[in-house]
Amino acid sequence: MRPFNYLRANDAAAAVSTVSANPTAKFLAGGTNIIDLMKEDVERPTELVDISRLNLAQIKAMNGGVSIGALAKNTDTANHQLIRQSFPLLSQAILAGASGQLRNMATNGGNLMQRTRCQYFYDTAMPCNKRELGTGCGAMEGLNRIHAIFGWSDKCVATYPGDMANALYALDAVVRIRGANGVERTIPVQEFHRLPGDTPEKDNNLAHGELIVGIELPKNNFANKSYYLKVRDRASYAFALVAVAAALETTGDSIKHARIVLGGVAHKPWRATEAETALIGKAATDDAFTHAAEIALRGARPLQHNAYKVDLGKRAIVLALQRALKGGVAADLRSKEI
Ligand SMILES: Cc1cc2nc3c(=O)[nH]c(=O)nc-3n(C[C@H](O)[C@H](O)[C@H](O)COP(=O)(O)OP(=O)(O)OC[C@H]3O[C@@H](n4cnc5c(N)ncnc54)[C@H](O)[C@@H]3O)c2cc1C
Ligand code: SF4
Repeated sequence: MRPFNYLRANDAAAAVSTVSANPTAKFLAGGTNIIDLMKEDVERPTELVDISRLNLAQIKAMNGGVSIGALAKNTDTANHQLIRQSFPLLSQAILAGASGQLRNMATNGGNLMQRTRCQYFYDTAMPCNKRELGTGCGAMEGLNRIHAIFGWSDKCVATYPGDMANALYALDAVVRIRGANGVERTIPVQEFHRLPGDTPEKDNNLAHGELIVGIELPKNNFANKSYYLKVRDRASYAFALVAVAAALETTGDSIKHARIVLGGVAHKPWRATEAETALIGKAATDDAFTHAAEIALRGARPLQHNAYKVDLGKRAIVLALQRALKGGVAADLRSKEI
């Protein structure tokens, strides 16, 4: 591992100004991604600014919704009474990710910022435009079984690997960010991550030195009918091949609002807006779900080794919507003693 300076920030302002002043500095939160990347020589920060003791870990009710600190641990977020009661989709998505030990360390801000799991990105002997722009993309003609079927470019076909963000997209979350001038801005989570285009080295729209301070979830009517389905290679911790965050609001038999967000298929969580619209006003039947799934996967552009994701995605959407309609594990999460 390369040598680096370690600093502990006493407040958010100091953390932001220190990282902003040094183009090769980075924040250190739970360390479960950045330290691995440094050990693999993929990331080479000269300075790590430890933000883990900043006062940004609260989870509290706000205008009928909830405000979640960037430094709240994934475990504490998933198990918090407010989240389990009103946003069970988020609890489920977080609990589908990583392992208990990792979730105890991982923070919400770090989770949003986690980098792709493309094996060529991790292997410094291979070409990778995300790691070093201009070197090419090893996955394009290589083993691309886990890669994108939507939104990829000729520069990069990687997927965003996180689970939590898929639920945040479905729940219209907003990310609160603090910049070097001390001013806070907000950005809808749907605009947080980027597609690779010609700049695959950029995962998201955060400027260097900007600090995520929190995530806000507005009030919603999805708590009774939502489900997070994750399909992966093994039941123990593994990243999603395809994931679906599904949520329904119904009146009688009819669907009033729907959310379908796919994970594991693009460089960012992939919201299937047309499929959602197709469900509005329809009876919540298997036929309607199947039709929506067809629409959701219509524009897919699979690579050599990942065409299976198209059919898998359709079936996962139908199953996730069926389980959402029944309340599924979400109901279980809500009724359990906390
Ligand atoms: C074996 C393994 C399996 C995993 N499986 C899954 C899985 O199935 N699903 C899943 O979703 N995740 C999974 N993860 C990823 C894990 O969830 C992330 O590593 C974790 O959420 C990152 O959070 P952290 O606090 O440790 O971030 P760190 O490692 O500390 O930081 C990650 C990045 O975020 C930046 N950062 C951190 N906090 C902030 C902030 N507040 N503002 C701005 N930038 C910030 C850091 O500078 C760094 O670049 C897995 C990880 C491992 C090691
Ligand atoms: S898919 Fe993206 S991350 Fe993977 S090798 Fe290609 S450029 Fe690198």
